[in-house]
Amino acid sequence: MPTAVQLDRALISDSSLYHIADKVERGERLSTSDGVALFATGDLVGVGHMADAVNRAKNGDRVTFAANHHINPTNICILRKTCVFCSYARLPKEEGAYRYTMEQVYAEAATSNTTLTREFHIVGGLDMHAGLDYYTEMFRGLKERYPHVHIKALTAVEIAHVARVSKRSVRDTLIALRDAGLDTMPGGGAEVFSPGVRATIADKKLSGEEYINVHREAHELGIRSNCTMLYGHVETYEDRMAHLAMLRDLQDETGGFLAYIPLAYHPDNNELGETLHREGTATSGFDDLKNLAVGRLFLDNFDHIKSHWIMVTPFVSQVALHFGVNDLEGTVVREKIYHEAGAHTEQRMTLEQILKLIRGAKKAPVERDSFYNVLRTFEAAA
Ligand code: SF4
Repeated sequence: MPTAVQLDRALISDSSLYHIADKVERGERLSTSDGVALFATGDLVGVGHMADAVNRAKNGDRVTFAANHHINPTNICILRKTCVFCSYARLPKEEGAYRYTMEQVYAEAATSNTTLTREFHIVGGLDMHAGLDYYTEMFRGLKERYPHVHIKALTAVEIAHVARVSKRSVRDTLIALRDAGLDTMPGGGAEVFSPGVRATIADKKLSGEEYINVHREAHELGIRSNCTMLYGHVETYEDRMAHLAMLRDLQDETGGFLAYIPLAYHPDNNELGETLHREGTATSGFDDLKNLAVGRLFLDNFDHIKSHWIMVTPFVSQVALHFGVNDLEGTVVREKIYHEAGAHTEQRMTLEQILKLIRGAKKAPVERDSFYNVLRTFEAAA
């Protein structure tokens, strides 16, 4: 529920936001039209001040991160031609298409520093030859080799695909995956729920309602998950807020979301980028910070707002720690999906680098597990 905070009006230059500031101070829930106003204003500092105050009331100066390792087992995807924002997917016979064998998955996992890595983050394409057996074998094999490593795997879109190709219900698929070792689900595949936006950028993908339904089923089975929004393409502020409202509603119902992660659209090497964003950059630091801050203010029933430094750069992520963010994507080893789309960031950050980043923002780094339990605390910068 919303947290009441004290704000400094001198830091809010756009007086049309004062009624929102009043609500934030009273701990009152924001409406979607409040959210649209927060996106529309040029007063980034004012929005950031409100989000920072709410975040500090919830999380103090703590900034969490987890040591994780991304594994993308297949880039073969039946939606290759219709998700026009995607740079990662390939058709089965296309150059660069791959599907890992189990041995390749385990070899990839073995490149991780498994004394440090606490989580495998596993996502890929909708591959007709990667069904329930493929993933249950993979998760069992990983758990046998690395029993202490949490498996966060398969977006709602992938779960629905695995269910379809395996001729099972979503619920039975989730139960089988959970029994094989699936611990939590990532939040990808949400894009923007608005049917109009989906018709333009991801015509054949699971609908927003279906995405929500898969997460609801997972939460009911005790599988917690993250959620996302891919912004910076054809969506309006109203689309963004309708999307966030659906996430907030499900969180009211189940409490199963761990974190919200806004994802910046990258325009390189994809059809949408060629037609819409020839100039190269779809989002801006301004919009990246706005999305994080609005997420913090509107999603009052979420504890954790995460910045994905791979997409918005470590520097924007660092500044975001003063715009409502309390969690950073961890030490990611080998990230393929956003680098195909033009992310120019490193593919990994060492523990030392992430500590330096957090301390540089005058915050206190905390290593967490996948459920946000504290594993290690570190001294904040003096
Ligand atoms: S976004 Fe996902 S579902 Fe769409 S083409 Fe890419 S990998 Fe496939």
